[in-house]
Amino acid sequence: MRPFTYERATSVADALRRTAGASREGERTAYLAGGTNLIDHLRLGIRETDRLIDVSHLDLTEVTELEEGGLRIGALARNADVAAHPLVRRTFPVVSAAMLAGASGQLRNMATMGGNLLQRTRCVYFQDLSTPCNKRDPGSGCSAIEGLGTYNALIGTSDSCVAVHPSDLCVALAALDVTVVVEGPLGERRIDFADLHRLPGDRPERDTTLERSELITAIEIAGPGFARRSRYRKLRERASYAFATVSVAAALEVRDGQVADVRIGLGGVSHKPHRALRAEEVLRGGPATHEAYAAAIAVEMEQARPGPDNGYKVTQLRRAVPAVLSALTEETA
Ligand SMILES: Cc1cc2nc3c(=O)[nH]c(=O)nc-3n(C[C@H](O)[C@H](O)[C@H](O)COP(=O)(O)OP(=O)(O)OC[C@H]3O[C@@H](n4cnc5c(N)ncnc54)[C@H](O)[C@@H]3O)c2cc1C
Ligand code: SF4
Repeated sequence: MRPFTYERATSVADALRRTAGASREGERTAYLAGGTNLIDHLRLGIRETDRLIDVSHLDLTEVTELEEGGLRIGALARNADVAAHPLVRRTFPVVSAAMLAGASGQLRNMATMGGNLLQRTRCVYFQDLSTPCNKRDPGSGCSAIEGLGTYNALIGTSDSCVAVHPSDLCVALAALDVTVVVEGPLGERRIDFADLHRLPGDRPERDTTLERSELITAIEIAGPGFARRSRYRKLRERASYAFATVSVAAALEVRDGQVADVRIGLGGVSHKPHRALRAEEVLRGGPATHEAYAAAIAVEMEQARPGPDNGYKVTQLRRAVPAVLSALTEETA
């Protein structure tokens, strides 16, 4: 591990000032929040930095109600605190459920909201410095395309990268109306959640549209609308402490046996959290039945491009999505 300095920021402005100062001197910086992803990467040599700027003590931990409805969650709120927060549990149960499905109690006590959004892929080759990986070492090649393909993405892949985004929380956020609030050298910027993460294209080393110095300060979730009736289901190889093979976040409103509105987020399928817009479109205004839900996810999966090892994900989604929507339908009956 290369040596670096540790600095504790005292405010958002102080964190930005330290980052700007370092860039002027040609130094690399990294914001440290819970450290559950970043410290591993520094130890493994996946990432290097000259200055580690600790933002974990900044006063960005509150969960508050927005005037127009919905919630504002500080970027440094711990995953465990947000998952257990009464406002979150009542207003957006899918957010709480998704977080509780991730990692372990100890990790959730450390991990923060902003850090969860920016955690990096769990592609085994990304973490193995002895193998080529375009995301870790641009231009070196992608070991996953010809190698172990079990966890590869189905949608939005490129010749450069087939990795998936690992976060559970982000799948729930993909199904809701979310704005990510960031602070940078030019002031505040508000990013639609759908525009935060990128597809790999020919720049897989860039996971998001954030500029290097930008600091996430809050996540705003509009609503609640029908999101009070929402669920998260995670499929994985063992019952706990495992990343999803696929996952489903859904919110549903049924009126007179018809789908009045629906939101579906899918995990484990793409380089970014995937919103199943095609399935939603098919469902709105149609019958709220298991058969209709199965037909809708079949339409969504028409864009999937599975390889020899990951076709099972399509099967899992074709079962899980109708099951989750049917369970929500029963709740509303
Ligand atoms: C064994 C293990 C199992 C796990 N299982 C799961 C799982 O099942 N599901 C799941 O979703 N996650 C899982 N995780 C991932 C875990 O949720 C993330 O490591 C965690 O959410 C990252 O948050 P953090 O605050 O620790 O981020 P850090 O490690 O501190 O930072 C991560 C990245 O985000 C940047 N960053 C952090 N905060 C900000 C900010 N406010 N603004 C700008 N940049 C910022 C950092 O510079 C760094 O690049 C697991 C992790 C481990 C170690
Ligand atoms: S899929 Fe992406 S992260 Fe995995 S080896 Fe290929 S380039 Fe690297």
